[in-house]
Amino acid sequence: MKRVRSPRPELEHLTPYEAKDVRADVVLSANESPHNLPGEILDKLADRVRHDIAFNRYPDPLATRLRAMIAEANGLEPANVLIGNGGDEIIMDLVLAWGGPGRTLLDMPPTFAMYGIDARMTGTAVLEVPRRPDFTVDEEAVLTAVAEADPDIIVIANPNNPTGTMAPETLLIDVLEATDAIVLVDEAYFEFSRQTMRPHMERHPHLVVLRTFSKAFSLAGLRAGYLLAHEDVIAELTKVRQPYSVNRFTQVAAGLAFRERVVFEAGVREAMRNRDTLLHGLGAMTGVEVFPSEANFVLFRVDHASAVWRDLLHDHSVLIRDVSRTPGLEDCLRVTVGSEEEIARFLAAMDEIMASKRAAAHFGMNAVAARHSGKDGE
Ligand SMILES: *Cc1c(COP(=O)(O)O)cnc(C)c1O
Repeated sequence: MKRVRSPRPELEHLTPYEAKDVRADVVLSANESPHNLPGEILDKLADRVRHDIAFNRYPDPLATRLRAMIAEANGLEPANVLIGNGGDEIIMDLVLAWGGPGRTLLDMPPTFAMYGIDARMTGTAVLEVPRRPDFTVDEEAVLTAVAEADPDIIVIANPNNPTGTMAPETLLIDVLEATDAIVLVDEAYFEFSRQTMRPHMERHPHLVVLRTFSKAFSLAGLRAGYLLAHEDVIAELTKVRQPYSVNRFTQVAAGLAFRERVVFEAGVREAMRNRDTLLHGLGAMTGVEVFPSEANFVLFRVDHASAVWRDLLHDHSVLIRDVSRTPGLEDCLRVTVGSEEEIARFLAAMDEIMASKRAAAHFGMNAVAARHSGKDGE
């Protein structure tokens, strides 16, 4: 039998983005909204599907109506907005247009993995300026790296995923003033942090701001995101993007959600209340260190994190995100702010797991390790 020729050498060191289909009663692993679209939007969407989406026709490549709506809401022109198949597609478009062989992307790990993955996939060098132990950005180190390496793209997630921390506006302005490279401020969690760099776009044409419908808008399954940027930047991106990546259904559904965006305010307020419950609940547990968050998720550190993650899933059917193998995030787990009921279930499960750890420690055993040595033999 013939064998398949090797793909590009860059792929050898890449692992697929975690897309495991793990089933659980309580899913708090992907920073999604705990609620589907509100019924009134679903009704309108059903009506539109039946009466005016021509599925037999190619979509409008630039999603003109949605684009105009988002531009107006942000005090911009349609030429300053690009819609993508999720924010992820736009990140890739930026790397395709400003990265490539001989070019460099600077990011600040631990952070969103896609920046580094897209860079490596396109032969773009990745320059990492690690965050401090409390996950704040090391401004001096960033400015030194910018001066010395002159990167072509600088990416900062604000708030940062998976740490939940924000970089101060003054730091971002200092970075903007130090370079003419693309500075991507990823505001995927803007609706929760309520802080944006949008007001600085006029003074800084190389500042680009990314947002998404996947988090506060309950539309992770739809795949829609948008970029706010100078019209010249958008014009370059339209050269590399897939022309029909944002389909007709997505344009209509995202448009309905955006037009009715006030209805999502309740969900954002609910998430903030539940985030407080989560921060206090985890903060009160001995053996758990919890980090502050401006987003709809919380990062915490606990001994034997991967074993705790497994116990949550296997014994309590609660799925969260194990980030403990990421450099800088040793023993860290990330939990999404779910509904009140989901958070209560997660906290009760954590209480039980931590209590059994303490009980086992009392008998001089490593609780989780002891339990799992039994389990592994099953
Ligand atoms: C979720 C997320 C995105 C975008 O997600 P999409 O679903 O592709 O829109 C971008 N950046 C960060 C940091 C995120 O957490």
